[in-house]
Amino acid sequence: MIVVIYTLMGNNPLDLLGGAASQGPAAQGSSLEHCLTGADANERDDCLVQATVESADSLWERLGPEAGIDFVVAQGVIFDQSVQTGCGAATSDIGPFYCPADMTLYVDVSFFDALSSQYGADDGQLAKMYVVAHEYGHHIQHLDGTMQAADRTRTGPQSDGVRLELQADCYAGVWAHHAANTTDENGNAMLMPLSSADIASALSAASAVGDDHIQREVADGPVRPETWTHGSSEQRAAWFTTGYEQGTVAACDTFSVPEV
Ligand SMILES: [Zn+2]
Repeated sequence: MIVVIYTLMGNNPLDLLGGAASQGPAAQGSSLEHCLTGADANERDDCLVQATVESADSLWERLGPEAGIDFVVAQGVIFDQSVQTGCGAATSDIGPFYCPADMTLYVDVSFFDALSSQYGADDGQLAKMYVVAHEYGHHIQHLDGTMQAADRTRTGPQSDGVRLELQADCYAGVWAHHAANTTDENGNAMLMPLSSADIASALSAASAVGDDHIQREVADGPVRPETWTHGSSEQRAAWFTTGYEQGTVAACDTFSVPEV
């Protein structure tokens, strides 16, 4: 059995991992007990990931059922270099990813350095939080069946695979739209209202992981749209913006529009 995992980027050879879903989760990530406050999230990337997952939990607990989704929260695991997952073994080379078999987001926070230094995103907090919110979008797609229904045999700018990724970008935008209204278990607001600089950071990250940008600027090779799995910089930034401006699940129906 092949279990597919869902990544932030398409430029990796490990997109298809062997492994039985029945292996279940193997949460071997580091303990996050030191992540207690907003200040911790501002200072430490592992705490920032946890805070973003919790913020997304809070949002989708509300939006998911409204959209007819039988919602359960996603798990988040921080790992260093390699990790065992319900989708098989994975290494950091693959970038942050979501494994549907154990409904868990896996992040090696060293990716965030590469995101700015190698891929060219700015180094704002929202660039990192976009990454987490995108992976959380895949969790929503898993819960509502969109992921299972997509035809992943094709690539290219209008393929189902790209539409799936752009929808995850749009859901990241939906999270950003509502982020300041997400609350922790005690009902306290988790995030300050986002500034235009924050949104610029998120857009810089969405653009940085566009297939054309990776092919041309990071891999220093030709741009080959027929191979795209995640969408161009322009597509990714545009769908994040749609989600951010509209703030609704319905705005993110990338499968019903003729062109994405
Ligand atoms: Zn993705």
